[in-house]
Amino acid sequence: MKKGILIIGAGGVSRVATVKCAMNIDTFEKITLASRTISKCESIRDDILKNQNVEISVASVDADSVDDLVILIEKVNPKLVLNVALPYQDLTIMDACTKCGVDYVDTANYEHPDVAKFEYKEQWARNEQFKDAGIMGLLGSGFDPGVTGVFCAYAQQNLFDEIHYIDIMDCNAGDHGYPFATNFNPEINLREVSANGRYWENGEWIETKPLEIRVDHDYPEVGVKPSYLLYHEELESLSKNIKGLKRIRFFMTFGDSYIQHMNCLQNVGMLGIEPVMHKGVEIIPIEFLTTLLPDPSSLGPRTVGKTNIGCIIEGIKDGKPKKVYIYNICDHQECYKETGAQAVSYTTGVPAMIGSKLLYKGIWKNKGVFNIEEFDAKPFMDELMQQGLPWKILELE
Ligand code: NDP
Repeated sequence: MKKGILIIGAGGVSRVATVKCAMNIDTFEKITLASRTISKCESIRDDILKNQNVEISVASVDADSVDDLVILIEKVNPKLVLNVALPYQDLTIMDACTKCGVDYVDTANYEHPDVAKFEYKEQWARNEQFKDAGIMGLLGSGFDPGVTGVFCAYAQQNLFDEIHYIDIMDCNAGDHGYPFATNFNPEINLREVSANGRYWENGEWIETKPLEIRVDHDYPEVGVKPSYLLYHEELESLSKNIKGLKRIRFFMTFGDSYIQHMNCLQNVGMLGIEPVMHKGVEIIPIEFLTTLLPDPSSLGPRTVGKTNIGCIIEGIKDGKPKKVYIYNICDHQECYKETGAQAVSYTTGVPAMIGSKLLYKGIWKNKGVFNIEEFDAKPFMDELMQQGLPWKILELE
């Protein structure tokens, strides 16, 4: 009989998700952690045994290969696969899950390594395949995408008759002391931030230049921070799934030092994804840059400050205008003390565990491929309160 969770990927997000799954071992029964570099899995396994006295198994796998994944999944025979490797591996892991008849959860939409395109198209196209296999795929169970979609669904289901405007506000006010570093995988982060911005209004996408639109937003318990409009993948699913919506946008904070470095690196071609020849060897500039930058999973001990990520939602309730701000605040050092990782990994890894838990227990159950806002938000909101990501709702004017 299928039993346990198989977690793929062993970076910062995986560390948090695996620690949190171990805290919920009564639900998950058995945990296997597999990744390309097995020593990273072993390090997480050893910490969990030492700190939590929970035993987990480890394995190595090349998640770019459906065949290798199928061999591993058949051997482990889990009830659920949690993909916290990179977006490049989404399709291979989804296809392996279909072949093995196992439910699937991830935290980021598929990206092709050679094309900087962020869309759910190829994952949504696997809906029929998942239905035929009688399995469920839950897409985007991190924070953004993830909790932001749950906040919107909760508002739609409990607070509003109609929602017209959503602004997702993502602030990381943490300081790691480096002039330039990224809080999650550098390659994925820089591809996202250096791309053109885009938002959705009245049924159309409006494109902006990278970081063209800036607002100075007052984040509760953090303060005023410059915030830049970006395209973010949850805009694609929320603009479909929140009925009556007129506009949805996404803003993220960046410090001056981050922007100066990013502009400079972009100007000299270091963010390029096309191969270039260097002394007779083909290299991809952004991959080389990733090798030079600090590993995000090493930022934990040195990052201080807080994150505040939330949604400002405006609409109508009982015939009257209504506006709320739903958000979570997370402290980098508290996250580090609990899991050995900073708050960006924490705010992604905890919801990855929660989405997995709701599927594992059959609280969220269906056949096909779904985004997170398509389910009853209440059980997820309750788990957030209990698992370390408490939220608040402010009524705005
Ligand atoms: P890391 O780079 O720290 O970790 C990625 C892990 O995946 C590494 O252990 C890496 O192995 C492994 N991996 C990469 N390629 C393969 C492969 N072919 N086969 C097996 N394992 C592989 O990334 P993060 O932990 O920072 O991010 C993990 C995911 O979370 C990403 O998809 C990211 O986009 C997503 N994310 C989502 C957020 C959200 O809010 N929704 C926010 C932040 C991140 P190796 O060590 O050998 O390279």
